[in-house]
Amino acid sequence: MASFIESTDLFDMAEQYPFSDVHFWRDPETQLQAIIAIHSTKLGPAIGGCRMIDYPSTHAAIKDACCLAAGMSYKTAINRLPFGGGKAVILKPKHLIDRKALFSSFGRFVESLNGRYITAMDSGTTIADMDVIASQTNHVMCTTTAGLASGDPSPHTAKGVYYGIKAAVKFKLERESLAGLHIAIQGVGNVGYALAKLLHNDGAKLTVADPNPIATQRLINEFGADVVVGDDIYAINCDVFSPCALGQVINAHSIAQFNTSIIAGSANNQLKSPDMTDALAARNILYAPDYVINSGGVLQISYLNKPDVVQHKLAALYDTLLAIFTQAEQQNSSTVNIANGLAEKILAGVNDE
Ligand code: NAD
Repeated sequence: MASFIESTDLFDMAEQYPFSDVHFWRDPETQLQAIIAIHSTKLGPAIGGCRMIDYPSTHAAIKDACCLAAGMSYKTAINRLPFGGGKAVILKPKHLIDRKALFSSFGRFVESLNGRYITAMDSGTTIADMDVIASQTNHVMCTTTAGLASGDPSPHTAKGVYYGIKAAVKFKLERESLAGLHIAIQGVGNVGYALAKLLHNDGAKLTVADPNPIATQRLINEFGADVVVGDDIYAINCDVFSPCALGQVINAHSIAQFNTSIIAGSANNQLKSPDMTDALAARNILYAPDYVINSGGVLQISYLNKPDVVQHKLAALYDTLLAIFTQAEQQNSSTVNIANGLAEKILAGVNDE
C-alpha cells in the first residue's frame, strides 16, 4: 500500500496493489465474466469474498479485486490467521438469465485454482449462491451445509464493528458507554442492520441512510432511527459516522462535510486514496482502519465450531484498535500507517509476540 499512482496497465497496477496473481474466467454460455486476484498465500490459502456488482469497466473490476485482495491479506495477518488474501469479482450481467448456471461456472473457476483461493459471500452474493458454488468445489465458505458451512458472516462483522466503535469512543471521547451518543450509519443492509441493533440496545441514537426504503423503514420501526437521504448522511452532526455500504466514501467531498470526531464502520476500502488520512487528521477525525474493524466475519470463519473463541476474538478487536489508536497518537502517525506496519511485519515473518 505505497504511494498512489493511477494506471490502467496491469503491471503498473501491480506496483500499487502488489498482487501475486490475477486470474480471468469467461464463460459466454452462462454470461460469467469473473476475476480472482490473489495477493498473498504466505500465511495460508488466500481467502476472500466474491462480489457481484456493476462495474463501469473491466479495469475498475480488476482494481477492485486487487485492492480487496490486499485488504484481505492485511486483515488475516493482523489477526494472525493461517490464511492469505484474495478476492473474486463477477461483472454483473445486465440481464441475468440463469443465476445458478453462472455460479456453477464460477465454482469451476474456483476449483481450477486447486485450493489456492477459498471463496465466500460478499456484496451482491448470497448463501444460496455459495451453496451452488459448493456443488463444484470444496473451496467455499458461508454455505449452509457444504464446504466450510459458516453461514452469513454479517452478524459477526457487525459485532466486531461494535467493539471497534466502543474502542474509538473510549479513546476519543473518553467514554465507556454508548448511551446517549449519536451514531450515523451509511447503509443498513446485513451488517448495518445488525450493528444498529447492538448500538440501539446500548442506548445510542441512530440516523441512517440507505436507498432501500424497506431497509430504512425497518430501522424506523425497530430502533426509532431518523432517516436522511443520500449524501446528507455525511453532514449529520454526530459522535460516530459508520460507513457500512460502499468503498471510497472517505474522499475530499465527504471529508469537507463530516461533522463527527470518529469514523468507524464495516465497508471495505473506505479511503478514496491513502492521502485521505492527512485530510482526516486535519479535521481531527479518528479513523478506525477498515480491514481491522471489519474482520469479525473472517474471525468467525477461521474458528468454525468454536463459538467461544470467536466471541473472545471479536471482543479482542477492542484492544487491537485501542492499541492502534494509542500508537498512532504516540508516534504522530495515522492509524492506517500503524495498522499497515503491524500487518506487514507479520506478513514478513517478524514475530514480536
Ligand atoms: P449489504 O449489501 O447487505 O448492505 C449494503 C447496504 O448499503 C444496502 O442496504 C444498500 O442498499 C446500501 N447502500 C448502497 N448504496 C448506498 C449509499 N450510497 N448510501 C447508503 N446506503 C447505500 O452489504 P453488507 O454485507 O451489509 O456489507 C456492507 C459493507 O461492509 C460492504 O462494503 C462490505 O464489503 C463490507 N463488509 C461486509 C462483511 C460482511 O460480513 N457482510 C465483512 C467485511 C466487510
